[in-house]
Amino acid sequence: MILGILGGGQLGMLLAQAANKIGIETFVYTDSDDSPAINYSQKSLIQSYDDLETLGRFIKECDVITFEFENIPFDTLNYILKDKPVFPSPHINQIIQDRLLEKKFINNLSIKTTDFIDLNKDTKISEEIFPGMLKTRRMGYDGKGQSVVNSKDDLVNIDMNIPYILEKKINLLKEFSIIITRYQDGKVFTYEPIENVHKEQILHTSKIPASITNEMMSTAQKQCEIMANSLNYVGTMCVEYFVDHNEVIYVNEIAPRVHNSGHLTIESYDCSQFESHIRAVCDLPKKEPQKIKNAKMLNIIGEDIKKYRNKSTKENYFFYDYEKKSVKSGRKMGHLTNIT
Ligand code: ADP
Ligand code: MG
Repeated sequence: MILGILGGGQLGMLLAQAANKIGIETFVYTDSDDSPAINYSQKSLIQSYDDLETLGRFIKECDVITFEFENIPFDTLNYILKDKPVFPSPHINQIIQDRLLEKKFINNLSIKTTDFIDLNKDTKISEEIFPGMLKTRRMGYDGKGQSVVNSKDDLVNIDMNIPYILEKKINLLKEFSIIITRYQDGKVFTYEPIENVHKEQILHTSKIPASITNEMMSTAQKQCEIMANSLNYVGTMCVEYFVDHNEVIYVNEIAPRVHNSGHLTIESYDCSQFESHIRAVCDLPKKEPQKIKNAKMLNIIGEDIKKYRNKSTKENYFFYDYEKKSVKSGRKMGHLTNIT
């Protein structure tokens, strides 16, 4: 069985490592030569995602194809789907790649998101939306394409040729995420909620257990099941949540892939989010993830990686260096998990 992975970042790397552990070969297709996943994959190709000839070679050699980031062009996924199964299904990306369609999908299931307006269409901007977060509808990650707006005046210089949404800014008490894996027959397994802290809109730390109420946990887990079923999702996905000062929970966004907050499942569960994803997309025997330890994870961003390299790690600490060739500020370079 050869699993094709589109995208070559650290999520692809951790997927390839998990695949190797259970005897599945991987074939990575990436558009960048600075791709950590290549180092752990049996095969790889570096070419743009719209190069049909190279894609053809990739498709021929893979049995099933998945992706490690959601902004793979829809046309690429659809092209592959003509010949080989792609999980999760490309139509899911079409919804989730666009923050407006994503929020509408969630709200249609009677699940709460932050209030928002379609900025390019709604001419009436009510004062209640401020303070707000302006976000590009497409292609945002790690806070890119986002800014805080406090009044209509802050909107005057915006390039209206790009589609935006304007979200109400939540007075955050906490953030947490839920990782859920859905198999091809519809069976779902949900990991326990993970508490997350962001710094400058980039994930900084994650930990289990999350200090949220049991009611929040069970409501969120049920919502995730409803969303995964409604999408007919296959594989691992992550749902990011906000908790405000009135202890109301809101879905922030869905990631149709394995997620940074789930890195700690490698050490804290007997079946990580990565292994679960591979089992689901490759239709392997199911394994219900069982927690073995609590854990904390720290993301290592930019130059900070230099402080961790060439040092021995203490007992119960697990250091991952993605070995990216170029160190850039704001770039995820590695992570450190501590089981507790
Ligand atoms: P990305 O796709 O870049 O991860 P998110 O929409 O998840 O973008 O935003 C990144 C982080 O920015 C969130 O985890 C949160 O900390 C902060 N943030 C985003 N939107 C809001 C909001 N409406 N209210 C408060 N904080 C927000
Ligand atoms: Mg996010």
